[in-house]
Amino acid sequence: MPGESDEEATAPGDGAATEIGFVSLVGSGPGDPELLTVKATRRLEEADVVLHDKLPGPEIIEQLPDDAREDVGKRAGGERTAQSAINERLVELAREGKRVVRLKGGDPFVFGRGGEEAEYLADHGIPFEVVPGVTSAVAAPAVAGIPVTHRDHASSVSFVTGHEDPTKPESAIDWEALAATGGTIVVLMGVGKLPAYTAALREAGMDPETPVALIERGTRPGQRVATGTLDTIVDERDAAGIEPPAVTVIGDVAATRESVRERLGNGVSDDA
Ligand code: SAH
Repeated sequence: MPGESDEEATAPGDGAATEIGFVSLVGSGPGDPELLTVKATRRLEEADVVLHDKLPGPEIIEQLPDDAREDVGKRAGGERTAQSAINERLVELAREGKRVVRLKGGDPFVFGRGGEEAEYLADHGIPFEVVPGVTSAVAAPAVAGIPVTHRDHASSVSFVTGHEDPTKPESAIDWEALAATGGTIVVLMGVGKLPAYTAALREAGMDPETPVALIERGTRPGQRVATGTLDTIVDERDAAGIEPPAVTVIGDVAATRESVRERLGNGVSDDA
């Protein structure tokens, strides 16, 4: 049209050179590509760029087109990209008019820093959405035959980070209070500090015979489980060589695996 520039994206009366893009904070689920939601799959197909770390797992990451993906999980030097740099990159790409997917393992708002990214985007005037994902906190126990609640065994469930050292006074987690709920405790990022928080729960008066399960790489190839009690699970972890990512389930529900495993078709093997 005469007089019109070829900058089609320029809004009338708006000095900006490019129309603002859009960021989708997307949960990839626990790793099995079939547990991506329909909406997540659609957003990945439509994205100009996908920022991901390692947690979505190779089965999902390798499906993404090479030219659209940016790995923000590791840098050349092996260092993790700082959260602040990820936030800034999301804003930068959106300001270039891109459809951006920030892909996170599980659900983006469960120990995924998705909340921080949402706040940053909002503060910077970037339109965004949240696409919930299947969280490993529920899915990893489920494939091992462990329901996080059960009418006979647990009427509540707490999701906890195992990253903190329970012996430090500044620990934000009140293990004593958790022990007192009588409900299920699901610990994420809790392989390394397993000895510390199982001890904290015993000290808080929890029965040392309480069943505990560790589920490694739930829903992914090579998924494994180690089972024991508050007293024995550290030895079981060591015997099986359980490594992150793994979820710890503490509570009577963990024993359900034993009663269903004979007919359970999810292919989670026992290594301990
Ligand atoms: N947002 C994620 C959790 C991020 S924190 C979610 O909702 O699942 C990272 C932790 O998630 C890991 O340390 C581990 O405890 C857990 N995790 C993620 N994927 C897992 C999987 N496939 N199997 C077992 N644990 C997993």
